Amino acid sequence: ALTEKLDAIFKKLKGRGILKEEDVDAALKEIRIALLEADVNFKVVKSFIERVRQKAIGKEILESLSPAQQVIKIVYDELCELLGGTTAKINLSPNPPTIFMMVGLHGSGKTTTSAKLARIFKKQGRRPMLVAADLQRPAAIDQLVTLGKQIDIPVFHSYEIKDPRQVCREALKKALIDRMDPVIVDTAGRMHVDEELMTELKDIKEILNPHEILFVADAMTGQDAVNIAKSFNEKIGITGVILTKMDGDARGGAALSIKEVTGKPIKLIGTGEKLDALEEFYPDRMANRILGMGDVLTLIEQAQKAYDEKEAEKLKKKIEKEEFTFEDLRDQIRKMRKMGPLENILSMLPGAHKILKDIKIDEREFVKVEAIINSMTPEERRNPKILNASRRIRIAKGSGTTVTDVNRLIKQFNEMKKLMKKMKHGKGFKLPKIFPF
Ligand code: GDP
Ligand code: MG
Repeated sequence: ALTEKLDAIFKKLKGRGILKEEDVDAALKEIRIALLEADVNFKVVKSFIERVRQKAIGKEILESLSPAQQVIKIVYDELCELLGGTTAKINLSPNPPTIFMMVGLHGSGKTTTSAKLARIFKKQGRRPMLVAADLQRPAAIDQLVTLGKQIDIPVFHSYEIKDPRQVCREALKKALIDRMDPVIVDTAGRMHVDEELMTELKDIKEILNPHEILFVADAMTGQDAVNIAKSFNEKIGITGVILTKMDGDARGGAALSIKEVTGKPIKLIGTGEKLDALEEFYPDRMANRILGMGDVLTLIEQAQKAYDEKEAEKLKKKIEKEEFTFEDLRDQIRKMRKMGPLENILSMLPGAHKILKDIKIDEREFVKVEAIINSMTPEERRNPKILNASRRIRIAKGSGTTVTDVNRLIKQFNEMKKLMKKMKHGKGFKLPKIFPF
């Protein structure tokens, strides 16, 4: 329905070339409603819409997109950006044990999520320990102990110690002796934020000195979650957010609001009651959900693909005419890097940390190559033949690399061009997907 409305608004606009203020405003009115319906906090909606407006007005309309799609694309890109761009990683301490402190209101899913998280670490070959520091009710301890048994992970707990601070101290000692890592501490929640709870959590934070304070929020609570997250962040300081109950029909507005209000990334999402239902958070998927228009985005993707194909055709022509330059190379690298760091996507997979080292090197290689190209003058990028020794020294200095790096890149670039030339003369010309460096 949203697209139809937008299409109607933009019908008159076809062929006008750029997005005009009144057209953008009309479209944003509909987007605003969609966001509010998705339970995004109204203040967040307001500032968000203003930002999109600034970006959209006067923007050229991609040939392959309708104006409506173009506005949605800007909204979508901005949403992804706001939700954190790429997937945020869980911080692990180089000096074990890494300590996680799980905080949040009663019923948000702290205990369940603690167990889920421990399960993932165990699958990765680590030795996680759970700590029952919620002493509000004996049942809270029982719940964690039961979960720990299910996944065969030790739960530090005591029915005698009455102060959660003391439980944490003892748990830390035990973790060090038994070489457990990471340590995941389940803390108490209340129905509402109150001073007593905050003081308790502040003390626990001081004792634990945690590497991650993860705020667990129920995605279904919508608007409330925003204020709660804000006050937890102000009073305790959180390092990230876990949104639970995303398997329900919450549209995900809370995700956007919490990110906007706390500035802290959403790191994981809970997608069910079972202990394997913990997933990485993907900003783009959440943006889809918030906008509630997967079909439109598929359309946009197709249009984008058509656009990319056109670009590829252009690139092919360049190669045929032997006009491929460093600028084209940089474009290709940027396109590849836009897909996000591979290591983030892999980091949650069991055993992945073993191979992550190699992938990181690749990533750094791209950064380096881009830096070198950035340090070239446009003339040098277009005509690498002029890259003499003194220019190479200047480029190395400017890009924070070495002359060897610069030389290697130029050599690889020349080899690549040779390869392209060969392909050009061969039958069945195919564009190399990833360039061979
Ligand atoms: P706590 O009070 O913050 O420790 O919350 P609990 O971990 O006890 O969870 C409260 C309820 O929410 C339990 O019934 C959980 O099974 C349920 N729960 C937690 N996370 C999820 C989730 O991601 N999806 C669903 N459907 N239920 C969840
Ligand atoms: Mg609990």
